[in-house]
Amino acid sequence: MLKIYTEDYFQKIILLEKQVGKKTSYKVLEPFSINPKDIISIQNAGKKIAEFIGLPDFTFIIATVKQKEKVGGNIDLKYGEKEVFVEISDNIIKYENAILATLAHEITHKYMHINNISCGSNTLNKYENEVLTDIASVFLGLGKLMLNGCECENIRQEYLPEKTRTITETLKCGYLNQTQLAFVYLLVSTMRRISPDDYKHGLSSDSIQALLYCENKYPYYFNKRFSEPNIRGELVEHLHSAIRDTQSTLSNIDKHLLYIQNSCTYVIEDFLEKKHKVIMNMLLESSTMMNDVKYDPCLKFLNAVQLNQRISKLISRLYDFSLEAKLYQNSVTKITNYIQSTGYPFLQPSLDMFNTVVCRNDGTKLKLPKDNPYLLSRCPKCNYQFIADTSLLIAEEYKCNKKRHRIKNIFKRLFKKQ
Ligand SMILES: [Zn+2]
Repeated sequence: MLKIYTEDYFQKIILLEKQVGKKTSYKVLEPFSINPKDIISIQNAGKKIAEFIGLPDFTFIIATVKQKEKVGGNIDLKYGEKEVFVEISDNIIKYENAILATLAHEITHKYMHINNISCGSNTLNKYENEVLTDIASVFLGLGKLMLNGCECENIRQEYLPEKTRTITETLKCGYLNQTQLAFVYLLVSTMRRISPDDYKHGLSSDSIQALLYCENKYPYYFNKRFSEPNIRGELVEHLHSAIRDTQSTLSNIDKHLLYIQNSCTYVIEDFLEKKHKVIMNMLLESSTMMNDVKYDPCLKFLNAVQLNQRISKLISRLYDFSLEAKLYQNSVTKITNYIQSTGYPFLQPSLDMFNTVVCRNDGTKLKLPKDNPYLLSRCPKCNYQFIADTSLLIAEEYKCNKKRHRIKNIFKRLFKKQ
């Protein structure tokens, strides 16, 4: 079974609908009988088909002529002449339905010619134009003739002296096969809301089978709901609903982020800022501590006692800070360990993450040298001097493993020595 190029056929039907849809009747020409041996009967068939698709002013003069292999017929297309010459192959002359399908195809060529419908006049488009013509003949209401006549079978008995031989001859004409035509026919019938009774009437059992096959294989294209008046609204609403679902998940992630910020990041930042500000003041104070009276040894002594008291107080305060900081450090380490063990979408630590440091006294960002665990830095804006660590963050667990590994190695070495 040949492939059905659904998208291509779909585009060609859109092209036809845009160009001649408004003046095309929704009627389908019912199959009719002709006498294949009578050229007048064939002539009348041509006239009937031409009138049906709206070409009553032309006279189609039909002759049976030997054609090239696999060519069912051809038509002489000239502008400005009322007589149109059509040749049909002597091969198909014994198949009544094939004659009708060939006439439908050739006369449709004339319709396209006078309506200027094509995929382009270049010879490269010849095949495309033939496919378009097959589709157009269905579009113009000749689908039943096309379906019944595109693949014909002739079974005859030959009587030989000893036995009877059954000879089956098959003939394919046109460019689309029966299944491909069935797809086009079903699509056109569905978009025009023709009832199944009407579009199936008069079709051969083969044609009906081909329709059934397409209905089952491509149900998407034949869904009646695409004809409903508010279908665009429904489809767009479907998209909007999917958008809202995604946004809802995104907003939930955002809520988590807000929680992380408010419960953790901001708390840590606040802590760092407060402590650094106090330390900044200590540093400022310390810069005056060297000032002393020059010549009175007793006063120098007393001042030193006082300074010692003051410094002890400050150091005790720093000790309290350290205890509090340890708590923050433990908690924040747990979080970074957890992030590292979670992996994607979170990133593993890299040196680029750690060399932009914030001065916690005034918020200035400092770009510092990479990979230094103990950098004495000074903020260019507020002059605050602080220690920065731009080395890679390593998970605590990993550090522990390393330590364990080292201890294991020491034991190993000791054991070997014994
Ligand atoms: Zn600063």
